[in-house]
Amino acid sequence: MPELLWIRNDLRIADNPALTMALQGTDRSVIGLFVCTPGAWKQDDWGSPRVTFLLESLREYQSSLRKLNIPLLVRIVDSHADAARVVQDVASLHSCSSVHAGLEFGLHEQARDQEVATRLADVGIAFHLHHDQMVIPPENVLTKTGTSFKVFTPFRNAWNKQFIGSGLPPVVEHTPADPLDIASDPVPSELDGFPAWAGMSRWNPGHHAALRQLNRFLSNPIGSYHVDRNRPDIDGSSSLSPWLAVGAISPISCLRPLVQEHGPDPQHWPAGPGTWQSELVWREFYRYVMHHNPRVSMRMPMQEWTEQLQWRKDDDGFAAWCEGRTGIDIVDAGMHQLLETGWMHNRMRMITAMFLTKNLLIDWRHGERFFARHLVDYDFPSNNGGWQWAASTGTDAAPYFRIFNPERQAVLFDPDHEYRQRWNPGFSPMTTPPIVNLVETRRRAIEAFKQARTVTS
Ligand SMILES: Cc1cc2nc3c(=O)[nH]c(=O)nc-3n(C[C@H](O)[C@H](O)[C@H](O)COP(=O)(O)OP(=O)(O)OC[C@H]3O[C@@H](n4cnc5c(N)ncnc54)[C@H](O)[C@@H]3O)c2cc1C
Repeated sequence: MPELLWIRNDLRIADNPALTMALQGTDRSVIGLFVCTPGAWKQDDWGSPRVTFLLESLREYQSSLRKLNIPLLVRIVDSHADAARVVQDVASLHSCSSVHAGLEFGLHEQARDQEVATRLADVGIAFHLHHDQMVIPPENVLTKTGTSFKVFTPFRNAWNKQFIGSGLPPVVEHTPADPLDIASDPVPSELDGFPAWAGMSRWNPGHHAALRQLNRFLSNPIGSYHVDRNRPDIDGSSSLSPWLAVGAISPISCLRPLVQEHGPDPQHWPAGPGTWQSELVWREFYRYVMHHNPRVSMRMPMQEWTEQLQWRKDDDGFAAWCEGRTGIDIVDAGMHQLLETGWMHNRMRMITAMFLTKNLLIDWRHGERFFARHLVDYDFPSNNGGWQWAASTGTDAAPYFRIFNPERQAVLFDPDHEYRQRWNPGFSPMTTPPIVNLVETRRRAIEAFKQARTVTS
């Protein structure tokens, strides 16, 4: 009886507990299964960049699985409910003894897994979920009173304690499974509603490319990451987000070389590696917030009082933002980078998101959705967390009265106009009239937030 490895957000051999456990089954044979659910992905606002990167990474993973004698079956259905049925059908058809998968945090995904568990129990097949997206499972990091943390810094302190105390799991060497007489399915290049993305030529999918990217970053840029990470004109961050988003690399694989080089306590690491570790903890934090607060998956603001905010309906302003035509050259450059590459520098994500939610006073959920459709690294918890931070609606967000002035940000973080020149066609400083007055719209946003506060107090 083979084990079934249901692959979801974990397209890698290394640091993959579901794979490790599947390979330890009594019969030593494993079947891989990936279920494409374009209908559910559409509902979740995924776009072609993310889906193309995922499918290409899956193709690379298929060849790694082949070396372990694991055939990969690919099924295309519409919804999560269809996926639950398919998993049971495949497991029953091949008389699998159990199904292994990585744990996912979204409400819809959890409902799907609940249904799979029931269906499999009905036919006597075990279902095992393994933590594989986070370094530390969210239920292991709690306050002294057993509640969840709401603010990043105390979360990180508690997280670091766990990190130092438990250490990282050892590297597992896999021996190939016993071969099965089952043919692998081809991985599609595109799906209904998700045409292959032309921007993919800029990105190399799969785990091996992720490792190359990691090694390049660790070999040098990480040393000055604490300084360079804020500069969109410098290639100073790892750009690993697309691979982390589809699980082509685990955060554990990212941190292990740093623990080996600098020891177990990140507080004693040099500034560059220490700051980078902290960013990976932000990634953990937003998953943690999502796990402990179902509101997040329902696209509700974490700060309930902000539900009273009177967001503006401004189709022209939104279109100008989406297309990089706001006349604020730093904002437009960020949007052009996104549209052309599927990626945007973190500082630029903050600037563009704050401009939309404060200067245009447009509901953050519109921006969140636009990013989801265009980002190659789209990751629901990080995107939601970033947007709620910028909109001042999040659990640990920018205070509503601290509003970036994008022109000031440009002077600080793009001092030589390099970034703006690179991404704005025909750029020359300050030649286009901005669609809004930054001072007046800042005042308007603060008033709107104050008003919402008054309504709820
Ligand atoms: C409005 C907004 C939307 C965002 N949407 C996404 C998204 O859809 N997907 C996504 O992966 N990140 C998102 N981020 C977080 C961050 O901008 C990106 O992770 C980062 O820019 C990716 O570049 P990098 O890989 O070079 O990061 P590095 O600086 O090298 O950091 C390493 C890794 O840490 C994680 N990370 C870094 N910063 C953050 C952060 N602030 N929050 C959460 N994780 C972080 C990422 O996985 C990143 O790859 C968003 C931020 C904002 C403000």
